Amino acid sequence: MSLPSEIDVAIIGAGAAGLGAAHALKNSALSFIVLEARDRVGGRGHTIMAAPEITFDLGCGWLHSADKNAFVKIAEGLDFEIDRTLPPWRERAYGKVFPQAARNEFIRALDEFYDRAWEAAQKGEDAPADLYLEPGNRWNPMIDAISTYVNGSELDRVSILDMDAYEDTNINWRVRRGYGALMAAYGASLPLAFNCVVTLVDHSAKRVRIETSQGTLAADKVIVTVPTNLIADGAIRFHPALPDKVDAAANLPLGLADKVMLALDEPEALPSEGNLRAATMRTEMGTYHLRPFGQPCIEGFFGGRFARQLEDAGDGAIAAHSIDEIASLLGNDFRRKLKPLKESRWAHDPFARGSYSHALPGHSTKRAVLAVPVDGRLFFAGEATSPNFFTTAHGAHDSGVRAAREVLGTISK
Ligand SMILES: Cc1cc2nc3c(=O)[nH]c(=O)nc-3n(C[C@H](O)[C@H](O)[C@H](O)COP(=O)(O)OP(=O)(O)OC[C@H]3O[C@@H](n4cnc5c(N)ncnc54)[C@H](O)[C@@H]3O)c2cc1C
Repeated sequence: MSLPSEIDVAIIGAGAAGLGAAHALKNSALSFIVLEARDRVGGRGHTIMAAPEITFDLGCGWLHSADKNAFVKIAEGLDFEIDRTLPPWRERAYGKVFPQAARNEFIRALDEFYDRAWEAAQKGEDAPADLYLEPGNRWNPMIDAISTYVNGSELDRVSILDMDAYEDTNINWRVRRGYGALMAAYGASLPLAFNCVVTLVDHSAKRVRIETSQGTLAADKVIVTVPTNLIADGAIRFHPALPDKVDAAANLPLGLADKVMLALDEPEALPSEGNLRAATMRTEMGTYHLRPFGQPCIEGFFGGRFARQLEDAGDGAIAAHSIDEIASLLGNDFRRKLKPLKESRWAHDPFARGSYSHALPGHSTKRAVLAVPVDGRLFFAGEATSPNFFTTAHGAHDSGVRAAREVLGTISK
């Protein structure tokens, strides 16, 4: 829809948070619009058909903490099938490259690391998580690799208090047609302005003036849901400036996780829903999901500095590395069986600039700082503002609902 000149509530960003906020305002008397820089809904939730028979979520794919995840009900309401097959991350590594005895040893080292970090966090003092690696333990680089998948960052830049605040019920489901496709359907009925890049939120006068690539809009209330890196970089500016918000955003940077989808010839040779990774003793490693949903493909996942390095090497570098790594694990024959289909480049995406947020050591309180409203007119949502479900799509959604309720709370006073 085209940009109106005035509105009660402007929501900036049509990711999970913006959609959650918009739905929470639907039955109120307030007029609202969602301003979205891209030409689509979903933000870091984006499903594509990588091939006619291969659904690929470039961003979020798992309904984490599914028993507490608002998108489960949303999916049911929109008739999106939920796949309840649990993920193969921990126990189901495929083949001979990570033998059972080694895997048990690794899982034990990983759990002991989490226990030490948890114990330290109970004392209430923050520290970088890598301090709790056991000196000299041979699994340390791989424990760090897991952090790059979970946090998008190596442990030296992750706060133990933030790690401890994350809530995980360990129930992980998927949406068969894609998490991003679900978000697109959830957003379909909302008033949205696409290709509408917000550059300035001027809250110096009674009404907030929002400058966008489509023109200027006056609003009584604004809900900001853009990723932290955009606030920290000043890609979206505030007048008067909001140094506390910029500081909070800078200390909750988006780490990096990237995915690649490879088509697989002769898929029957590999198990459905398998996990492939080697006991490489390196942090620079991929983890591979074999034949997700039984599809003829392998999905690779990379995180942290290594993902950044591969992205920086240019489009196709993640796929090329993945094929090399899989061939080294399963045999050279796999080179001819694998074909690159698509890879994500979240660090180079101008409206994401990364994948999900983590608190830097000493800054675990910044999620609350980012979330707090300004002057009863500016409200903040997005995964980074969630107190317990940060990094996730459902955490983002719930934060949007929370921000919408804050808006409604100011009206009813
Ligand atoms: C590779 C990867 C894997 C992931 N896996 C999972 C998973 O399995 N499960 C899970 O729960 N989560 C996962 N996540 C995280 C999840 O996708 C995000 O936490 C969630 O989607 C964030 O939602 P959001 O609304 O906070 O932000 P976003 O989705 O980033 O939405 C913000 C919106 O603001 C828009 N925007 C930005 N700047 C402007 C501007 N200036 N003007 C107007 N609009 C603007 C953006 O285009 C975007 O649409 C993953 C993410 C990635 C990248």
